[in-house]
Amino acid sequence: MILTHRQLTTDRKLDADVCIVGAGAGGSAAAHALSARGLSVVVLERGSFLTPKDFDQREENMFPKLFYDAGGRRTRNRAIRVLHGHGVGGSTLHNINLCKRIPDEVFAEWELPRFNAATLRPHYERIEKLLGVSRIPAERMNANNRLFKKGVEKLGYRGGMLSHNREGCVGSGFCELGCAFDAKLNALRVLIPEAVRAGATFLADTRAIVLERDGRRVTRARAETLDPATGARVSSHEISARSFLCAGGAIETPLLLQRSKVPDPRGLVGARLHLHPGVAAFAEFDEPVLSWQGIPQSYECTEFLSYEKNSAKRVWMIAGSAHPAGAASMLPGFGEEHDAWMRKLPRLACVSAMVHDSTRGSVSLKGDFGADVDYVLNDADRRQLALGLREAARILLAAGAREAVVPFVTPLRATSVAELDCAPLEVRDLDLDMVAVHPMSTVWVGRSDDDSCLDETCRYRHLDNLFVGDMSAFPSSLGVPPQLSAYSLGRLAAERAGDVN
Ligand SMILES: Cc1cc2nc3c(=O)[nH]c(=O)nc-3n(C[C@H](O)[C@H](O)[C@H](O)COP(=O)(O)OP(=O)(O)OC[C@H]3O[C@@H](n4cnc5c(N)ncnc54)[C@H](O)[C@@H]3O)c2cc1C
Ligand code: SF4
Repeated sequence: MILTHRQLTTDRKLDADVCIVGAGAGGSAAAHALSARGLSVVVLERGSFLTPKDFDQREENMFPKLFYDAGGRRTRNRAIRVLHGHGVGGSTLHNINLCKRIPDEVFAEWELPRFNAATLRPHYERIEKLLGVSRIPAERMNANNRLFKKGVEKLGYRGGMLSHNREGCVGSGFCELGCAFDAKLNALRVLIPEAVRAGATFLADTRAIVLERDGRRVTRARAETLDPATGARVSSHEISARSFLCAGGAIETPLLLQRSKVPDPRGLVGARLHLHPGVAAFAEFDEPVLSWQGIPQSYECTEFLSYEKNSAKRVWMIAGSAHPAGAASMLPGFGEEHDAWMRKLPRLACVSAMVHDSTRGSVSLKGDFGADVDYVLNDADRRQLALGLREAARILLAAGAREAVVPFVTPLRATSVAELDCAPLEVRDLDLDMVAVHPMSTVWVGRSDDDSCLDETCRYRHLDNLFVGDMSAFPSSLGVPPQLSAYSLGRLAAERAGDVN
């Protein structure tokens, strides 16, 4: 069953085999796997239980309902917006459904004998089957992706169609605001209903405040149900369990562990953060592009992406998803200048570049529940983003754009490749909008107590019955869209969490 603040009006004491914090990709996959084994599962989810009729495709309504800090969470230096979601389904409610596995080169770099491609393979296979992952048909490309592909092919760059988890998609284009047409084969549509049918209990609008422990064991989670309209506390709960699996995502999981003061002799929890920061270039075409309509991202350019260690090519390029408020926040200028850009929006195409980042940041508590995300891009990653912006503009010009623009405070505008190539292009903080949608690696798996928080079964090293089953657990940037890996990791962590006596 799924209980919300409307039912959770009185304080409760619950018992379960496994208590899971977070109903996103990792948490729902763990709940699905554990309940299928006949184990009793309680899942705490701070966000609301929303269904397709709630997803009204309005940015001003959906951002507060779906994203932490209403989509305004930023790094400490304000340079990068960090988007991650809440709700029964977590960030899978609003993600863009792209599906990739971690490349072999990334696994190889970790050198972890029991946390590698072979370990995750059966979980990927199961998740891909459950979520109906398939190649996006070429005829489903929208005009933005078609122009992107045209430019990539004209330049002879490497590119290809992407895979996704959708069924019955009408191409509304509003994936980032939740799917009103229930076409996402995600946690909400696939895994959570099956977990509920197998007996799992989800407490929505309910956040885990702290994990309490006795010696090396976590004994219970303390949680509170909040009224989503007012933020007022409705009730408080204690959940006892044999094991606990944290799947709050790579920003919130380390914060829960820090609030709980888990033993952390080397101060590692939250001390590593990768983000895949991204930037975007626009270009004006003579014909309408209407980039907010249709499947937002269906084609990729991998010409400047290689996963070899210390590679000088670490940018992944895809079409930009440009619904009105998102585009408005990225387009340059103020007042009349900004107005002029917005009037061009129907004829603008957008390509974004995301870096497989080597920068390491950190996450720590700000007050009781806030996040201090400290992440300052290193020079190598800035150069990669600059490369991505220049190439994105080049691709759009090759596709026939009248003018390409890199939306710096003083925009870089180019009507020809010659003009583009002689313009200086540097990525400086607060000079253009940077967005990161893939936080990861804050409570990571590694070889020893000295260099990692988790062992290779995703167990927290200093406690016997605490596991992490979300994006926090990966030791580095993945360089690919991470949802399949988060789902798979949730299943992997659930294997051992379900065995604890
Ligand atoms: C705009 C956007 C687009 C994206 N597009 C793609 C894409 O196309 N392909 C792709 O592979 N990935 C995409 N992603 C990323 C992907 O969705 C995430 O990497 C993935 O969902 C992370 O899974 P997770 O389990 O780590 O966390 P999440 O899915 O974020 O789930 C964590 C859940 O835990 C809950 N929680 C946290 N703390 C607590 C607490 N203390 N108590 C109770 N509940 C708590 C949260 O509210 C949340 O619901 C996108 C992300 C964004 C923001
Ligand atoms: S494009 Fe498809 S999956 Fe995305 S919101 Fe629209 S109908 Fe749903």
